[in-house]
Formats: sequence, C-alpha cells, structure tokens
Amino acid sequence: MTNTSKYRGRFAPSPSGPLHFGSLVAALGSYLDARSLKGDWLLRMEDIDPPREKPGAADAILKTLELFGFEWDGSVLYQSSRIEAYREAAGYLLSTGLAYPCSCSRREIDKTGKPGPEGIVYPGTCRNGRDPSRDVRTLRVITDSAEISFPDLIHGRFRQDLEQDVGDFIVRRADGLYAYQLAVVVDDAFQNITRIVRGSDLLFSTPRQVYLQQLLGLPQPEYSHLPLVMDEDGRKLSKQSLAWPVDSNDPLQGLLQAAHFLGQIPPVDIPSNLAEFWEWSISGWDSSAVPVQQF
Ligand code: GLU
Repeated sequence: MTNTSKYRGRFAPSPSGPLHFGSLVAALGSYLDARSLKGDWLLRMEDIDPPREKPGAADAILKTLELFGFEWDGSVLYQSSRIEAYREAAGYLLSTGLAYPCSCSRREIDKTGKPGPEGIVYPGTCRNGRDPSRDVRTLRVITDSAEISFPDLIHGRFRQDLEQDVGDFIVRRADGLYAYQLAVVVDDAFQNITRIVRGSDLLFSTPRQVYLQQLLGLPQPEYSHLPLVMDEDGRKLSKQSLAWPVDSNDPLQGLLQAAHFLGQIPPVDIPSNLAEFWEWSISGWDSSAVPVQQF
C-alpha cells in the first residue's frame, strides 16, 4: 500500500533502563530521517512489560532526549494507557478464528518445538483444539506458510515464512500482558506512523507485524532498519545489560558519535554546540550512507 500522507515517524523506547548509546542511535536515525523530510516525529513509551521495567526509567529517558535537543511532536503516548485497544484487537483475532487459546507451557514447547531463527518454533499443539481440562495460558495467532515480505529501505526486500520460521506466535502472554508484536502494530496505526526507522534487531519481528497489519486491516508503514551497536563480545547493547548509558554531561559528544555510527560525515568545521549539530545533521542527513548490518 502506498502511503501518500505526511511523513510521521516515531521513537518507541521501552523503559527498561536509562537511554544507552544503542537507543540514542535509533532515536537519532529516526529523528533525522523524519526531520530531513519535513516529517513529524512522535514519542511512544512502550511501558507494557512491568517485569522488565525500572522505576524512573521512562522519565529519565525523556529527560535525556530533551537535554540532547530532540523535539517531539504532540504529547508522549504511554502504552500503559492503551490496554483497552490491545484487548479489542486480541478479541477480534480470537472471535474471527485468526487466533486461538493455547495451554502449552514454555517447558513443553522447548521439548517438542524445533529451533528457528527467532527461538523455538511453536509446533502448533493447540491449533486444532486444546485439552479442555487444562487452563488457557496464552493467545496465539495462526500463521500460514505464505511468505511475508516487505521492502526495507536499508536492507532491500526481506522475506520470511512465518509458519516455518516463527510458528503461531503469542499476542497475549501467560501473565495476561499483551505482546509487543500486537501493541506495536495497534499503536503504529493509531499514531498514523508512515515510516518506522529502528534497530535491526527488529528486522526479524517485522514480518509478524506486517502479518498482523494484514489480519487487522491496518496500513503498512515503510520500514528502515538501522545497524545495531554491539559490545566487545558482539552482543547487542541493551538497557538491561546497563551498557554505555549516554553521558548527559556531554550531549554533543554522544550525538556526534551516534551520527558517525550512522555513516554521517560532519563538515570540516565540526559542530561545536547542539544548535550547530542539529542544523548540520538534519540538513545533511544521508540515509544512503547508513551502513547495512550483516546477519
Ligand atoms: N520498544 C522497543 C525497544 O525499545 C522498540 C520498538 C520499535 O521500535 O518498534 O526495543
């Protein structure tokens, strides 16, 4: 589907810790892409997974972004305020037979499922009816073997056979929380997001999101997956590992490093303050210079 509406981008951090260098890169890439094309840039706090959240992290992330000079449009959308919308979407999938209740425990699935690129592939045990004497644990979406593909602006066309590589996936978890895959799709549509620029760790999740968009009749945004910042051991930096929180005392340095990581080449007169940085980085944003993550 071609989207002719005004560019609306977003940054959607999870408040599982302070902003680290990897998320600064994602924030900057999405911001520069949106602003260089005169688009809006929205902020969404993905606070629907309390077990993984750290008290105060949401406010700390917002404060850091503000200090660094990011300017978002409208007010921040908190996913914790959107549970009713997720319930409605999950209810629709269930009532139309596109999703089913599942009683399998993680341990059972680990025993019977085969490993796939995104973890153990659910073997479909409850797809044709579950043992009624057992409690319902999760709600799963039925996948089919039709290939899902989408054009990524950095990686080119990306393809996945959902049934084979992922299996019927969870939209409501055993703890009653709605899964990221469902919430992200419902909210990207709610916020009329036209282009999603984010880290490549989510490239392999995107086919699930495109599939859910199809099932729920939602528009498909454009996608652009940025390279990931790795630690010395080749692992993705994550807030949980407390890796490299950005230095709030030196926003300019962090931003210059993030821009460099995204392949942007500063002018000979390197920006010496935030105003100069933003002027240069927005007007000079070159998405074709962003390095492609190899998998
Ligand atoms: N909340 C997710 C994260 O912090 C990002 C979601 C997204 O950009 O789609 O990893």
